[in-house]
Amino acid sequence: MCCSLFQQLSLTNLDNAPYSNKQPIILIAEDDRMTRTMIAQILSRDGYQIVEVSNGQECLEAYQTAHPDLILLDAMMPSLNGFECCAQIMTIPDSRYTPILIITSLNDEASVNRAFDSGASDYITKPIHWPVLRQRVRVQIERNLLYQQLEEANEKLTRLASTDDLTQLANRRVFLERLKQEWKQSTREKSDLSLVLVDIDHFKIYNDTYGHHQGDLCLARVASTLQQCLKRPLDLAARYGGEEFAALLPQTKLAGAEHVAQRIRQSVKDLAILHKNSLNAPQVTVSLGVASIVPGKGIDAGLLFQAADRALYQAKFQGRDRVSTDFSLDLS
Ligand code: GH3
Ligand code: MG
Ligand code: MG
Ligand code: MG
Repeated sequence: MCCSLFQQLSLTNLDNAPYSNKQPIILIAEDDRMTRTMIAQILSRDGYQIVEVSNGQECLEAYQTAHPDLILLDAMMPSLNGFECCAQIMTIPDSRYTPILIITSLNDEASVNRAFDSGASDYITKPIHWPVLRQRVRVQIERNLLYQQLEEANEKLTRLASTDDLTQLANRRVFLERLKQEWKQSTREKSDLSLVLVDIDHFKIYNDTYGHHQGDLCLARVASTLQQCLKRPLDLAARYGGEEFAALLPQTKLAGAEHVAQRIRQSVKDLAILHKNSLNAPQVTVSLGVASIVPGKGIDAGLLFQAADRALYQAKFQGRDRVSTDFSLDLS
């Protein structure tokens, strides 16, 4: 890479600006027609698309339909002045993506403070000095684009850091984090928190028989089936380890969790993935351990995990391709 992101978004060359494939939209709210026309002409010559309105109320409406990349707002307008209009726009979700420049004829400290207090990114004074207007508009639009790109990059990083690459399920870190959160929430609500641990049967033999690549495909199919078996928005499916998965089921009693576990077991079996050397069935199967608890102060989430793990061990021991339940934490 020859240059930094910031250098790539260089503020010095409009032709090479990152938005060159899309004309940024500027919404101009100015009640004085002469001034508004002048601003519109100058900025459209710089390659911006212009939307003109003559008061604050119209500006609010145009903001919602035009989705501008920047708003130029005259401070002094009838009905809704620039400061009030700015403050109202700030209350609209995602408006932080739209920089607002307030045009004020008063260069006193109070007006400048008022502009920033109402949420404006910057201000310019009347009479308008055109080169200053053009520079400020350009700086605001490019800076805002940079923010958006950084935010998108951040979101992508967060997604990558929380998703298991092979299966696209939540990874172990996210699972442990959610377990902690749901533990607290269930403690507050005094509600049941259930955990199902899922382990593919004789998966080492599967890899040995069909190869690692085929093993990976099998893991991805089992994972996707697990995900499909969870129906409630709060349910979380995660890849806990190599061929081990977890389903965290908030607000779910033991009987409900057992039901979900049976659904997972049957759905994986129904995939009918051939596993000719398996010691318990001609196709890929899973064993599942289920536990449930109403969390309370003084006990920690490890207890639930250990109980589900005990049950899983039991399911393996009893012959695999089955659901086993640990009742030790269930008081219902
Ligand atoms: P059991 O029925 O007792 O669970 O037997 P098992 O063979 O499934 O269990 P074991 O723990 O002995 O082996 C797990 C296997 O899972 C071994 C390992 O190679 C395989 N495995 C773990 N992660 C991956 C992966 O990401 N891809 C593939 N292809 N295999 C994996
Ligand atoms: Mg005015
Ligand atoms: Mg295992
Ligand atoms: Mg296994």
